[in-house]
Amino acid sequence: MNNNDNLCPKTSTCALFQGNILESEDAKDIFIKFFCANGEEGRMDCKRFLLTLEGVAADITIMTNDTRSIEELIKYLKEK
Ligand code: SF4
Repeated sequence: MNNNDNLCPKTSTCALFQGNILESEDAKDIFIKFFCANGEEGRMDCKRFLLTLEGVAADITIMTNDTRSIEELIKYLKEK
């Protein structure tokens, strides 16, 4: 498995990966290391990725490590 295989397939459209959520480059790099570039294990811990599996787009208010359940996040996004 090379590094590209470890990358989340949503990187090109994900606001967090693209740098549109976190102002700190250091913070962004840490999230990318533990979620986006950490293979299936990493992305399956990411609430933004799990939302896409449910067919729901995560906006910029949703962080990878949001403590809400996927059901709560879907409800939140639908009611916004
Ligand atoms: S792991 Fe999460 S934060 Fe990273 S690119 Fe995928 S959906 Fe975005």
